[in-house]
Amino acid sequence: MRQVYLDNAATTQVSDEVLDAMLPYFNRSFGNASSLYQMGRQAAEAMEKAREQVANAIGADTKEVIFTSGGTESDNIAVIGAAHAMREHGNHIITSTIEHPAVMEPCRHLEKEGYEVTYLPVDCEGIVSLDALNDAVTPNTILISVMHVNNEIGTIQPIEEIGRVAKENDILFHTDAVQSLGKIPVDVDDLGVDLLSLSGHKIHGPKGIGALFVRKGTRVKAVEYGGGQERGLRSGTENIPGIVGMGQACEAAARDLEKNAAHMTRLRDKLIDGITKEEYVRLNGSRTMRSPNNANLSFHYIEGESLVLMLDMKGVEASTGSACSSKELQASHVLLALGMPPEQAHGSLRFTNSIYNTEEDIDYVLDVLPDIVQKLMAMSPLYKPY
Ligand SMILES: *Cc1c(COP(=O)(O)O)cnc(C)c1O
Repeated sequence: MRQVYLDNAATTQVSDEVLDAMLPYFNRSFGNASSLYQMGRQAAEAMEKAREQVANAIGADTKEVIFTSGGTESDNIAVIGAAHAMREHGNHIITSTIEHPAVMEPCRHLEKEGYEVTYLPVDCEGIVSLDALNDAVTPNTILISVMHVNNEIGTIQPIEEIGRVAKENDILFHTDAVQSLGKIPVDVDDLGVDLLSLSGHKIHGPKGIGALFVRKGTRVKAVEYGGGQERGLRSGTENIPGIVGMGQACEAAARDLEKNAAHMTRLRDKLIDGITKEEYVRLNGSRTMRSPNNANLSFHYIEGESLVLMLDMKGVEASTGSACSSKELQASHVLLALGMPPEQAHGSLRFTNSIYNTEEDIDYVLDVLPDIVQKLMAMSPLYKPY
């Protein structure tokens, strides 16, 4: 059976060039980057090369990049670390209602510490309103955190404009760029950000590695303590193979951006156009301000989970738009934020392609999906076929 992996917003295949770059650092040159002898120095050199690769990919200086254990940790250090560092200047934070949990939960935590958080609404396409942002800014605002590309619906936020508002009001600005690097241009100066989060495994790098851009002069407090590695912001022995992989993945993401984005856009549009010909389905998010690899669709009368399971039986790997908590099936907070009724949010399906997908993959999905949908609709208590 054909296997078609279309869940690249969840994680991606490690590329050959990334794997090749990493391998020597597991068992041949396995030193600790803090050690003084030759193998330790080799590790330190490999890490500095990787830091340069990450910095170059986002238009930063090498001194402005720290390695972390992933996108989640980068977001935590950025949001909590900046909030703590700026506490004497105010206690107000602005974020959006559609952030990844890695930003949302640190914000909730800060609320318990006495910070005030404004969660900006989004319009029906999932785009943050600049008017709402301007209205939300107070003299007490110390941090704005709005994601670059949303992981569920692929919406691209107006980061440059938000950056301008932040700068005018002298407010720190963080963006989660985990889903944007390698899909759309990411340049820290163009975006006007002070802090920017990246993750390895969303860009054909390994899992468990990420990076945080911290603009020169930006104050951030550590959120955990130890040996003081990574300028004291991320203590712990550096994950050298992961860091080398992260560097290579970032280099490739920036180097091949145009070619890859064109390929992903072609596949995305083929899928969207093919599926939305049917009347029982609609596209979630924006048609234009959309990541090249994301198609998020809502099917009427049926549940996303059932679709995922039936597609899996045909070798197609996709996911629901909703991240279900283990205790209860909760509709996606992102889809609900678009103003979608819960039953429609439950019927959502996310396809996220990558450079490894082909036109034939999409043809296959378009071939098997309508039958599955018809079967599930026929079984649905909500569907009345007249
Ligand atoms: C996956 C993801 C994260 C978390 O990154 P990890 O490396 O898995 O911790 C954060 N933000 C967004 C937008 C993501 O898609």
